[in-house]
Amino acid sequence: MDLGIAGKRAVVCAASKGLGRGCAMALAEAGVDLVINARGAEALEATAEAIRAAHGVTVTAVAADITTEAGRAAVLEAAGTADILVNNAGGPPPGMWPDWGREDFIKALDANMLTPIALIQALVPGMMERGWGRVVNITSQSVKAPIAVLGLSNSARAGLTGFVAGTSRQVAGSGVTINNLLPGIHATDRAIALDAGVAREQGITPEEAKAQRCRTIPSGRYGTPEEFGATCAFLCSQHAGFIVGQNVLLDGGGVNATL
Ligand code: NAP
Repeated sequence: MDLGIAGKRAVVCAASKGLGRGCAMALAEAGVDLVINARGAEALEATAEAIRAAHGVTVTAVAADITTEAGRAAVLEAAGTADILVNNAGGPPPGMWPDWGREDFIKALDANMLTPIALIQALVPGMMERGWGRVVNITSQSVKAPIAVLGLSNSARAGLTGFVAGTSRQVAGSGVTINNLLPGIHATDRAIALDAGVAREQGITPEEAKAQRCRTIPSGRYGTPEEFGATCAFLCSQHAGFIVGQNVLLDGGGVNATL
């Protein structure tokens, strides 16, 4: 399918690895020029080079912490008049609810709520003026079904989800869509870290922790960054202009709910 977005410009945050990288690669396959970001310059440049080699698009790499004011300014300067924004950042650490203090919450809110909101506020007005734009926020299945050890994520992402629900309906009339992609477990470094945590806690191997988790997923496996990226690219496509303010779950059926 021709996604109809060749020649557009996208900013993909936190994109040297994992789900962000999957989104960047899929957009590049559709002919989109990219600004990609992550903190570590080496992995980021390697990803930029892999994308250029695979798809021949222009890729600008901005090594910066997207959760900081300075990091966002650097990314926005490179972005110019971007047509597409994919919001992403690392997820908060696991833990239990009595242990988190104000600073833990502020950090989680900064990364997973206030940073995507700031980038939306910076880039969406230009998209509205030009009459076309796409924003996809990578959130989590924890928005639909809370994950006990990821209470910081449950909280911060719920805040972003509320902002998107209202804002997406205020900008849709200008040709700009804002939607959220909700990953269940995907085979990335984040999943390896989570499995290692479960393994330590339960005295089992990381492989056993993964197999145990797979048994809770109807698909019986972890999702891939490629599948995730393809869904993101579709939401950014010309075909997705009527999809507004939605929370699209990619979880292999893991969330057991009718709606
Ligand atoms: P990942 O494989 O660990 O990759 C994270 C990427 O984000 C890396 O490129 C990392 O590069 C970059 N990054 C992290 N913090 C950043 C920051 N402050 N500024 C700029 N770049 C940053 O993680 P993932 O699995 O793709 O997860 C992406 C998001 O989806 C996370 O928020 C995660 O919580 C959420 N999620 C993932 C899963 C899953 O199963 N994978 C499930 C639900 C939700 P640097 O470290 O070099 O900055």
